Amino acid sequence: MTDLSLPEFQAGHVWLVGAGPGDPGLLTLLALHGLKHADVVVYDALVDKAILGLARPGAELDHAGKRGGKPSPSQPDISQRLVALARQNKRVLRLKGGDPFVFGRGAEEAMTLVENSIPFRVVPGITAGVGGLAYAGIPATARDANSAIAFVTGHDSSGAVPDNLDWPALARSVPVLVVYMALTHLSDIAQRLIDAGRKPSEPAALLSRATTDQQLVVSGTLADIAEKALKQKVEPPAMLVVGDVVTYRRHLDWRRA
Ligand code: SAH
Repeated sequence: MTDLSLPEFQAGHVWLVGAGPGDPGLLTLLALHGLKHADVVVYDALVDKAILGLARPGAELDHAGKRGGKPSPSQPDISQRLVALARQNKRVLRLKGGDPFVFGRGAEEAMTLVENSIPFRVVPGITAGVGGLAYAGIPATARDANSAIAFVTGHDSSGAVPDNLDWPALARSVPVLVVYMALTHLSDIAQRLIDAGRKPSEPAALLSRATTDQQLVVSGTLADIAEKALKQKVEPPAMLVVGDVVTYRRHLDWRRA
């Protein structure tokens, strides 16, 4: 990496870093550089252990979701912890699954840093909706299938299917939908799409732990994907892909042994 000039990780700064969807090979060079220089890595549950293993020996590894057996800290607690660590003049790497600004609450954390005048950098990561699809042999776009794609969340902050989403409009106008956090309300989401006019026979796939060694892809249709997922005991994290691009998997599943 001698000819790459990567930025110095300065003391008292926070790097908000995307770890990608799982496979450590999908980390960016900047993410790896940050891991090699951080004093403390505050990571989420979705981050693969192999990625944490790349941190500088001696770096403090802090699981944001679990703090010494106490109940899960709230989002403001995590943001405040980043502020406190930066004020201790540490190099703070906040490591999130996928991309920090895609359904990752990265914006909330960054806003707290701004409010507290903590200098920070954002290191994008490969979001599961792109990297996970690629590892499942599903192109996010293909000329014959779609000229638009939507990333949608299957949960709102209360845990319910988001009501502020215009499902009929999405169903009508977006040929490929990628639904993050899809598992809990899978049958409800599939039914909403059918009710809004999508064909029950439309190809759908559920991607679980995509890009990792435990990747599982369940293929089906909007009508049967929820039942199939249940039968196969799909584990989180998982995402739903709906649209004709799913059919490419028959030919493009390059990970198949
Ligand atoms: N910031 C992350 C998303 C966080 S929300 C990103 O950009 O990817 C968490 C949701 O992401 C999960 O519920 C799941 O829907 C999706 N997800 C993350 N990693 C995944 C993986 N390896 N396989 C399948 N879905 C994944």
